[in-house]
Amino acid sequence: MNIGAIFKGLATTFGFMLRRKATIDYPFVKRAHAPRFHGLHELRRYADGKERCIGCELCQIACPANAITVVGAENTPDDRKSPGERYAFRYEIDELRCIFCGMCEEACPTDAITLTPRFEMADYRRSAFIYDKTRLLVPAEAGVGQAADERPGGIPGDLGEVAREKSTVDPQKGYGATWRGGEILTSKGKTYMPTSAGGELLRGPRTRKGGE
Ligand code: SF4
Ligand code: SF4
Repeated sequence: MNIGAIFKGLATTFGFMLRRKATIDYPFVKRAHAPRFHGLHELRRYADGKERCIGCELCQIACPANAITVVGAENTPDDRKSPGERYAFRYEIDELRCIFCGMCEEACPTDAITLTPRFEMADYRRSAFIYDKTRLLVPAEAGVGQAADERPGGIPGDLGEVAREKSTVDPQKGYGATWRGGEILTSKGKTYMPTSAGGELLRGPRTRKGGE
């Protein structure tokens, strides 16, 4: 038996145990994106809650991947959804076609369609990647009027129940997580995901800060 080789192997093992890990504890910990990262879309509102989209279809025309479908309709005095004459009656993006180039964002005259840093869209069904208006439009109560990165936690998915709903991987319920991550709250060795209620416990005392 080569005792020297055993000690050499153990030294290598213990040496790596003391090194800083290259991996992170995903999905509980997520790395920050580059500032110009292009992720999942959202449709924004004005500060008064009206939809920014005026159904002009410029984003649909600009899209090189034919991923966007817009059908505009006329606002009425009794039901005004946007400040313009028209609003998007139907708005869909096929995220499987999308190449996340940002041309739609560039083309939009009202800054309605924007690309957020959200990237977690995995699902078992192709149909789950068709994001219609109900999934794209920022909830009326979700920090309207502010750019995505200026809202608490960054995106609509960070603003409470929406995050909980969208963080499911249950194939019956729908699409995968859209929570961006960012700051993970840690307290007394426990890790929390920021929520409107203050934080949901993700990991117990064994969790280390940053997961590393
Ligand atoms: S990011 Fe590019 S490919 Fe994706 S919907 Fe917008 S214009 Fe189309
Ligand atoms: S998102 Fe912008 S470019 Fe697209 S239809 Fe609405 S207002 Fe026009």
